[in-house]
Amino acid sequence: MSVETATASSALLESLGIEAENSGVFAGRWLDSSGPAITSIEPASGAPVASVRTAGPEDFEEVVRVSVEAFEAWRTWPAPKRGEIVRLLADELRRNKDSLGRLVTVEMGKVVSEGLGEVQEMIDMADLAVGMSRQLYGLSMHSERPQHRMYEQWHPLGPVGIITAFNFPVAVWAWNAMVAAVCGDSMIWKPSEKTPLTALAVTHIAAKVLADAGAPPIFNLAIGNRHQVGEPMTADPRIPLVSATGSVSMGRAVGQAMAKRLGRSLLELGGNNGLIAMDDADLDLTLRGVLFAAVGTAGQRCTSLRRLFLQKGIAAEMKARLLKAYPSISIGDPLDEGTVMGPLVDQGAIDDMMAALDKVRDQGGTVLYGGKVLQDRSGYFVEPTLVEASAHMPITCDETFAPILYIFEFETLEEVIEMHNSVPQGLSSAIFTMNMRSAERFLSASGSDCGIANVNIGTSGAEIGGAFGGEKETGGGREAGSDSWKIYMRRQTCTLNYGEELPLAQGVEFDI
Ligand code: NAD
Repeated sequence: MSVETATASSALLESLGIEAENSGVFAGRWLDSSGPAITSIEPASGAPVASVRTAGPEDFEEVVRVSVEAFEAWRTWPAPKRGEIVRLLADELRRNKDSLGRLVTVEMGKVVSEGLGEVQEMIDMADLAVGMSRQLYGLSMHSERPQHRMYEQWHPLGPVGIITAFNFPVAVWAWNAMVAAVCGDSMIWKPSEKTPLTALAVTHIAAKVLADAGAPPIFNLAIGNRHQVGEPMTADPRIPLVSATGSVSMGRAVGQAMAKRLGRSLLELGGNNGLIAMDDADLDLTLRGVLFAAVGTAGQRCTSLRRLFLQKGIAAEMKARLLKAYPSISIGDPLDEGTVMGPLVDQGAIDDMMAALDKVRDQGGTVLYGGKVLQDRSGYFVEPTLVEASAHMPITCDETFAPILYIFEFETLEEVIEMHNSVPQGLSSAIFTMNMRSAERFLSASGSDCGIANVNIGTSGAEIGGAFGGEKETGGGREAGSDSWKIYMRRQTCTLNYGEELPLAQGVEFDI
């Protein structure tokens, strides 16, 4: 770490309430947590930033107890009043946007404009949720029985477990937390062990807002690994819903554990996102879309572009453009405004990338550009990588969380839709074309099989107004806008008889 960065980091940490050693458990108050300490490492330097004591079993129990109690109080608040608390939280996030965004960059390694963008996403989510707090609509139906009224209403669900991944260390919490809060739920957050400090900072901010407003402690935190927190959370019947974001293998474990006790799970898992460029595409637009989606966040977004399909007529031209653009990508300190690509998160991520590239070579692929670790500096930096691939390479069906872009060629739209849909994941997808028929074919029921389908926009960078999530091994969950709020509530169908008779449905007679 450079001296400048070290100084910036300590001032930053202090401004967000983080010390050299911290408790990692908040249950309405910071507990003297008893689990082993973990150290947060800055990916850009490999240097330790601060340490956090994780949750022991009795700490976890206390977090659940407090979250149940907080839920019982919070669910009685009118939803618009709950929205008011979320509005205050949005204000506090606006005040802390710069420091929190920089902390995201320090701890996770994404470039600073993306770190700030992530905090903006939290603020956007809060604003959206404030509006939602007045729109948690139920339907009313006409009863078949005279003098009866029938309607559906939505009630708060209970304490929600929120398991988050390292790559969106604060936004994913906000996707869940802002909506769950207006829905009347309390929360227990289990962040990634790779990004505990951003979780501490957010919890400090949220706890202050609640305390100042006299609201119950709905935003709780338990830092620890899957054995300490993840598995106890999925096994605990007091937690009716666990929302889990991360790898497919994690989602499988969480989904099975929740299904075993007939609890609800909301799964946001890995993607293997494809972009189709047709012969009639605007190539300038396509290049920009590809670069941001493939290289942004160093390929560590669930929506990162991993598979690029080029129609034969433009394939040579697009490859030439990519080969010209890739060497000009500035790789370096993510806190520098001019940097486009920061580091990978840790040595494990580098090892995974190198192992994937070994498989590429074994399976007949060709590395066209990149593929190396940058040895001239500390931290976990790699070159963004272009690979000439074929649909028969099994490695292209895996999500490698690194900036590797597989390039395929195709002839017809029908052929490429089949290639595109042939992977087990189904998160984000895109087509670049100026032909309305091709665009509509891609968006049709037999087109892209993903949860997100874009035309003339890359695969990453979704807006929060739409429901976000994917199909197949991506887990089927939806978060953020549209009607995603429904999973955080329980639906109740109510029938009210204001007459003097007791008619039965379906004309059943039961006279005694
Ligand atoms: P990960 O699966 O290693 O960890 C994610 C979280 O799950 C961590 O908090 C981890 O401690 C926890 N966890 C792991 N096993 C668990 C278990 N058995 N029970 C309970 N908790 C468990 O993922 P990661 O490396 O942090 O993040 C990268 C992955 O997340 C990628 O696959 C990426 O595509 C995915 N992701 C998906 C979305 C989405 O919205 N679809 C968003 C961001 C990231």
